Amino acid sequence: MKVALLSESPADEAALRVLVEAVLAEPVALVQPGLRARGWPNVAQVLPAILRHLHFNTDADGLAVVVDADDSVVHTAEHEAPGYHHPLCRICRLRAVFRRALRHLPPAHGRTTVLRAVGLAVPAIEAWYLCGRDTSVTEARWVDGQGSNQPPYTRRELKWRVYGTERPPLPLEIRRAVQEVSRHHGDVRRLEHDFPQGFGSLARDLRSWRRSA
Ligand SMILES: [Zn+2]
Repeated sequence: MKVALLSESPADEAALRVLVEAVLAEPVALVQPGLRARGWPNVAQVLPAILRHLHFNTDADGLAVVVDADDSVVHTAEHEAPGYHHPLCRICRLRAVFRRALRHLPPAHGRTTVLRAVGLAVPAIEAWYLCGRDTSVTEARWVDGQGSNQPPYTRRELKWRVYGTERPPLPLEIRRAVQEVSRHHGDVRRLEHDFPQGFGSLARDLRSWRRSA
């Protein structure tokens, strides 16, 4: 499939490519999104222009977007109710941007729309990189910590655990990101188990692409 990726840094996007190929169970041809985003809320701001670009100027099948949750509300099964939208949940917000941007667009390049995949790294993508290596890092523990106002770890600590520094140079960040997500050898079950909403939403969206292909 032809896929565009959008995340918060080139390192995140390198890891995202490995994960997308694992879920789709096939190598993907990368399509350039035309614009870059750096962090939240920039991703949501540039997303409409990227979707229009992909739809009209490319033959991309879909766009996969992953952002860090930071301290925002984590997506839950309740948010999946028809017509429901949590204004502080980044998955709900990004899905709404997809809906608005793609609504009423005429078919182009032989397809009706650009397929959507949205994921949320809770609280940051380094948590995904630690999956299977540091069992104390899970979505459930983070959400429990939010509820009791006692976060189990900070985003800074996660960076130390992954890179050995809080401010990794980009080549190190990319190398470590790809190393850690490649550790799963294409089997994302552990990631889905430990991160059922943020990673699970991404994986479920991507699997729906295979059915629509
Ligand atoms: Zn949500």
